[in-house]
Amino acid sequence: MGEKYDNLVLGIDLGGTKILTAVTNKQGEMLSRDHSVTPAKEGQEAVVKSILESVGRALDQAHIAASDLTAIGVGAPGLSNPETGVLFTSPNLPGWKDVPLRDIIGKKLGSKAFLINDANAAAIGELHFGAGRGTSNFIYITVSTGIGGGIIVDGKIYTGSTGTAGELGHMVIDDDGPKCNCGNTGCWETLASGTALAREAKDRIREGMATSILQYADDNIEKINAEAIHEAAQAGDKLANELIAQTAYYLGVGLANLINIFNPEVIVIGGGLSNIGDMLLKPAFEEAGRRAFKPAYQAARFARAELGRNSGVLGAAAFALNKLKEPGNKL
Ligand SMILES: [Zn+2]
Repeated sequence: MGEKYDNLVLGIDLGGTKILTAVTNKQGEMLSRDHSVTPAKEGQEAVVKSILESVGRALDQAHIAASDLTAIGVGAPGLSNPETGVLFTSPNLPGWKDVPLRDIIGKKLGSKAFLINDANAAAIGELHFGAGRGTSNFIYITVSTGIGGGIIVDGKIYTGSTGTAGELGHMVIDDDGPKCNCGNTGCWETLASGTALAREAKDRIREGMATSILQYADDNIEKINAEAIHEAAQAGDKLANELIAQTAYYLGVGLANLINIFNPEVIVIGGGLSNIGDMLLKPAFEEAGRRAFKPAYQAARFARAELGRNSGVLGAAAFALNKLKEPGNKL
């Protein structure tokens, strides 16, 4: 067994719709990877059972036993405390409240486990193995149904006093804006996410505005998503282009706030909506440039996330290894 098999870590990326597990080494090479569906509606026990089944398959694929693992890193959606390993609450996991997820998983598998927010895990993944390599101050955002984020300061994830920092999607951009799932109004993700883009399109169509967007959504208004709007925009649809420009504007307003507050070296952008590419991102960066302080804006570089769906699972594993190195933990 060579270096490839040193410090094997299990990464778990628990999402509201999918569970991804992988056995990785400290270089971020995946020895195995398993993908399954999260039975979120069936409740906590069913989800934990599904996680453990997925872990079993990932271990089998890697031809190792749980006892061969150095550590386990769990990335989970919602608010959690990485110090206590408790998941407070999660909009994607209905009914979960103050769940000691770290210890549940750690005990079942007989290995040291660590818990971190899923977007923070993705930021750590990009820091070690993706677009943040070689930098120590960067902001990661993932723009899809919502906006998630992670703040890396001096090479470490910033989690705040009780672990819930980095909820970038919930900075208020328009205090009179749309109602957010969090209970507030006008949060960034209510204005600049894929959900926001689709909602605006549906509203305009219901108002009777002429557009070809429906053609890209099987003529079904409920099926309108960011992808359909992007396709319509590429085909020259006026409304689709206006809506993407509006989303870019709000994305840029939020980016300017992040640049002014954190003065990052890099802002890494991932998530499904970022796949629209330059049509969305270029005007967003320009808007940020009009609003942010010049020296901070000029110092910041924008980069697309590199790890795709693997950022969370690789980051959760890297987080576990980092935590083991801290005083009080044995590697
Ligand atoms: Zn919110």
